[in-house]
Amino acid sequence: MNEKEKERHKRYMRQWRKDHVESVKASKKKWKEENPDKVKKDRENWKNKNKDKMLLYKRRHMRKWRENYPEKAKEYEKSCYEKYHEKILHGVKLYRQKNPQRTRAHKRIWYLLVTNQIKKPTRCSCCGIPGNLDGHHENYDRQDCVIWLCKKCHFYLHRKPDPGQRVVEEGKEEG
Ligand SMILES: [Zn+2]
Ligand SMILES: [Zn+2]
Repeated sequence: MNEKEKERHKRYMRQWRKDHVESVKASKKKWKEENPDKVKKDRENWKNKNKDKMLLYKRRHMRKWRENYPEKAKEYEKSCYEKYHEKILHGVKLYRQKNPQRTRAHKRIWYLLVTNQIKKPTRCSCCGIPGNLDGHHENYDRQDCVIWLCKKCHFYLHRKPDPGQRVVEEGKEEG
């Protein structure tokens, strides 16, 4: 096909589509029905490429919905809160059931802190960086022996598979 023919074909197709709007629509619909996975993928791709647009659209949609159905919106927010709240409580309960020793040890730290028997340092015992520190127990049988670590060091310490590998510099221990 040369350029002229291509152009003519294009024009022809354009006209054909105009003349057969309904059948084009129907065939598109049919294709969509036959290829739900592809449609889904296309939609996901579009969403990923237009995240800002999607966010705006969602916000606008929610605002309108809230304005139109204030009672429903209130109910929805309440149900969300209840669901979320219950999930957190359930998670905490599970954690406590799974880790009774740890829970007891953490309670002990909390008790020692509020009764001023120990003081939380401002710097991580491992790397020395100041911040919000976690109390860590090397041994849950010695509940009063707490090491204060930053989130990063604490995470790293718990990630080590063999407790024998854990190295905590002596003399830097607190409590
Ligand atoms: Zn640290
Ligand atoms: Zn720990």
